Amino acid sequence: MEYKAFLIKYGEIGVKGKNRFRFEDALVTQMHYALDPVGEFKIRKESGRIFAEALSDYDYEEAVTALSCVFGISGICPIVVEDKEDFDQAARLVCDYIGERYDDLSFTFKVMVRRADKSWPMTSMETAALLGEKLLERYGSLSVDVHEPDVYVTLEIRDKIYIYTEEIPGPGGMPIGTNGKAMLLLSGGIDSPVAGYMISKRGVRIEATYFHAPPYTSERAKQKVVDLAKIISRYTGPIHLHIVNFTDIQMAIYEKCPHDELTIIMRRYMMKIAEHFAKENDCLSLVTGESIGQVASQTMQSLYCTDAAAEIPVFRPCIGMDKNDIIRLSEKIGTFETSILPFEDCCTIFVAKHPVTKPRLDVIERSERKLADCIDELLKTAIETEEVIFIKAYD
Ligand code: ATP
Ligand code: MG
Repeated sequence: MEYKAFLIKYGEIGVKGKNRFRFEDALVTQMHYALDPVGEFKIRKESGRIFAEALSDYDYEEAVTALSCVFGISGICPIVVEDKEDFDQAARLVCDYIGERYDDLSFTFKVMVRRADKSWPMTSMETAALLGEKLLERYGSLSVDVHEPDVYVTLEIRDKIYIYTEEIPGPGGMPIGTNGKAMLLLSGGIDSPVAGYMISKRGVRIEATYFHAPPYTSERAKQKVVDLAKIISRYTGPIHLHIVNFTDIQMAIYEKCPHDELTIIMRRYMMKIAEHFAKENDCLSLVTGESIGQVASQTMQSLYCTDAAAEIPVFRPCIGMDKNDIIRLSEKIGTFETSILPFEDCCTIFVAKHPVTKPRLDVIERSERKLADCIDELLKTAIETEEVIFIKAYD
């Protein structure tokens, strides 16, 4: 069976009234981003539906995989589109389709008809009933079950005839670009790519900031983060990745602050720098991969101290998830294998043996005052020397 087109179904939430156009337009943009590397597709909106029609040869599996990454899509229906004549011709097309699509013709079915073309001489119900009869006439092994059919045979009568029987689940969520922009703190670990995926699923576009500490962290550690950004950009759309040299800040903290507070203080400066780039790029929040209690720097008290470093909200989509749940999601979205590559992270190099688990904000702030003579200059340099890489899933 060769399909030349897909009908795209999307959830109804947030699609009411004026929002609908925004929602649909954002969806179409993301579908182009996903499908353009697969082949030439014409994507059009038509009364509550979006159709993607192939104008060139393409690989079916590749197209379905690409569409499965587009947030906002609830179902992907491979369809057959034919010129419209009359009922007999439509019935013939449907019967031919079923014969070609299914090897084993012993399933139950229900016919669904949608009649967008009101000049069609029969009602939807009449058309469905007659079509059911035709199918039973042609294939004696089929039977009708209107309550729980194995297959919904759907015929849509529009400017043309559309036939489909399958709906491949989409990823759900909302199209990227419908809910503003956020700055993800992206490390080479397991959690933050998952956090980026989750926030994007709600329609939020992301940028990302990565802190490295050369020569303590290698070029390969940085490449790993670039690779992770590339994987999640299948879902999130293109990402500007800000790469910040954090070495001097880290060294200063290491020299001047109590070692059991290192991670918290580092994390707070990461927040401040990421917030700077966030504000510069219209991002209204920060996003991290933190989850309560996972490590010392993620206790409730630690998160309180980290939060206090930023003015804009900090969202943590993984906050209530167990590590195993996060791992499962990272496997599903394809980041796990890359995340577990054993390259050093700037946080693990200067880590204390016994970090505080219940830091107090006033104590932390007092420790940070020891950096008063150098921190402004160091932050300025770190910001000015950022490297920005533009990352797209498909080149
Ligand atoms: P991850 O798996 O996302 O690295 P983690 O469990 O290793 O998380 P931490 O190392 O404590 O946890 O980091 C907590 C969060 O802080 C990360 O999820 C990420 O959002 C941010 N973060 C940590 N290190 C970096 C870094 N080098 N660059 C950018 N963000 C970072
Ligand atoms: Mg980490």
